[in-house]
Amino acid sequence: MSIYGIYLLLALLACGAGIVFLLLRRRPGFDSEPDQDPRTIDEQEAPDTAEVDLQTSMSSLPDAVMLIGERLQLRWANKSAHTLFGIEPDFPSNEPVWQLVNLPGFREYLIRQDVTESFNCVAPSDHNLWLEVRIAPYRAGQFLLQGRDITRIRQLEQIRRDFIANTSHELRTPLSIIYGYLEMMQEEPVENIGSQWQPAVRQMYEQTERIKQIIDDMMLLSRLEDVDSIIEQTHISMAPLMQRACADAKALAKPKNQKVTCSIDENYSLHCNEQEIQSLVMNLISNAVRYTPDKGTIAITWAVDLIGGRLSVSDTGIGIEDKDIPRITERFYRTDPARSRAAGGTGIGLAIVNHIVNRHQARLFITSKPGRGSEFSVQFPADKIQADHEQVNLLLN
Ligand code: ADP
Repeated sequence: MSIYGIYLLLALLACGAGIVFLLLRRRPGFDSEPDQDPRTIDEQEAPDTAEVDLQTSMSSLPDAVMLIGERLQLRWANKSAHTLFGIEPDFPSNEPVWQLVNLPGFREYLIRQDVTESFNCVAPSDHNLWLEVRIAPYRAGQFLLQGRDITRIRQLEQIRRDFIANTSHELRTPLSIIYGYLEMMQEEPVENIGSQWQPAVRQMYEQTERIKQIIDDMMLLSRLEDVDSIIEQTHISMAPLMQRACADAKALAKPKNQKVTCSIDENYSLHCNEQEIQSLVMNLISNAVRYTPDKGTIAITWAVDLIGGRLSVSDTGIGIEDKDIPRITERFYRTDPARSRAAGGTGIGLAIVNHIVNRHQARLFITSKPGRGSEFSVQFPADKIQADHEQVNLLLN
């Protein structure tokens, strides 16, 4: 190639790189800082008729509304937005909106531009107020931001949680005394309590045990629901935890002659709250045992790959109909209440599982076929997994 040919090639490469760079910079949030606006402030601030109509209709809404421009700058804000977000009346129109609003996490939320996600925060203007922020697309590259005062909703949620936690706590002490006496009476020789009372004592004992379990589950659920409670997480070696769960599963399944298989990837730790993960696994295992007929099979797996860690419990049980799957994590939702009660269920197990899943930024997947069985899988993100040594796959039967 001649020297001119090389010059031409270099010139073409430089042009190509320039075009790619310009295209990338046009994407909102590309470098998380707004571009310098080539237009004058007057040009930028001139709203057309549609935008003026929008501003007129939104100006006196009780919710905060902001119109955010292509470079994430604030174009316009209604009265409530000025009050709730503490925006000055003469805000600079070229500044990105997060520089006008003092809110940790707000900048990252705006850059993600995920319309399905909401952002809850304390109002910058008043630390007693809670706001729920959402965004919706407006015109190309622009969007509307809505901020709703959710202080009352949060207060009511807190009152409900406190009520459940306090009531459960108050019921627990007298119930423990009744339970203790019934346990003693159960163990008494039949001539001491009279043969006619023996079945009644046994039933009272079983029902008291059930109430105790419901109260314990309700207390755990209200603690998990408390979004303000700090969750202590450390790296927990998963193999010993899963092996203990497998041993418990085998003991639970024994009276029903069910087979339990366990496949556990060794040498991986999960960044989690150990007690919560134990509770999650045991809830899934006790459901699998409860809803699988005698001689069925239950498979427990802990596997790690590039996506993250997957914990799953599958069974060959009664299965769940498609219409019920989205609802079974609601508290007290049961596909067959009589069957659940008879099997000793409290109706809260999967609500607990769901909360623990969310608190660990994990996802719960449920697949099932009525009459064939179900699989409950919890997928933990890769950044929560730490490899200790080499992966060894153990098959314990
Ligand atoms: P329960 O204490 O009633 O089992 P859960 O919250 O643990 O409450 O589960 C809710 C409902 O989901 C159950 O009542 C049952 O109908 C259904 N379910 C949960 N796990 C299984 C499973 N492994 N197989 C079939 N149905 C299940």
